[in-house]
Amino acid sequence: MKRIIILGAPGSGKGTQAQLLSKSLCIPFISAGEILRQEIKKNEKTRSYIKNTINQGKLVKSSFMIQLIKENIQKKNSFNGFILDGFPRTIEQAKSLKKYIAIEYAIYLNIEYKDIINRIEGRLIHKPSGRTYHSIFNPPKQHNVDDITGEILSKRKDDTKKIIKTRFEEYIKHTQPLIHWFQKEKKKIHYLEIEANQSINHIHKKIINHLNKKKKYK
Ligand code: AMP
Repeated sequence: MKRIIILGAPGSGKGTQAQLLSKSLCIPFISAGEILRQEIKKNEKTRSYIKNTINQGKLVKSSFMIQLIKENIQKKNSFNGFILDGFPRTIEQAKSLKKYIAIEYAIYLNIEYKDIINRIEGRLIHKPSGRTYHSIFNPPKQHNVDDITGEILSKRKDDTKKIIKTRFEEYIKHTQPLIHWFQKEKKKIHYLEIEANQSINHIHKKIINHLNKKKKYK
């Protein structure tokens, strides 16, 4: 059973690593941002609240996010484990998750602000599925086209310099304290910090090694 969370600033590569891990470990990944983007499409009641909050670069209310994540953990095929990408993002969310389900691994992708801009400006998304690419670091096989469906890729509306600045401020305010909280939980959760400015494959291998190490201790 592997219950993994991936932490890091916007653009640190959480989504990319979650997708790779999901393939390698054959367990689902649950992306908080993607859940919200799908919610905008299907839920008229909450549509404008989520859209406005995301487009301001702010975090949605924790109580709201927690509810959506719990529903998704139940819905997904997660009995062999799962990878949470972008949740928790606040201490309140982490405490609520802890009461609900035990997390085994926390992977923190550490990135500097100057690297974030490059990363986010080249990001591409396949909107229907949420698959992400990067024009330089993780390009699709064919220019601007999704590898699986052949459909056109697009940019996220909140991937602009102005909104990234607010997203990063939100990260410093709410998510950095959470990193310290996880460091303190080290005895209960297998915590790993990785510099995010390394190649995608290198980071992926480091994470896999970390997950395998724990197996040997058992
Ligand atoms: P992401 O796709 O992870 O970059 O998330 C996109 C946006 O969704 C964030 O900038 C927030 O507005 C919102 N969001 C994602 N995850 C959370 C979370 N755990 N708590 C609150 N808001 C979130």
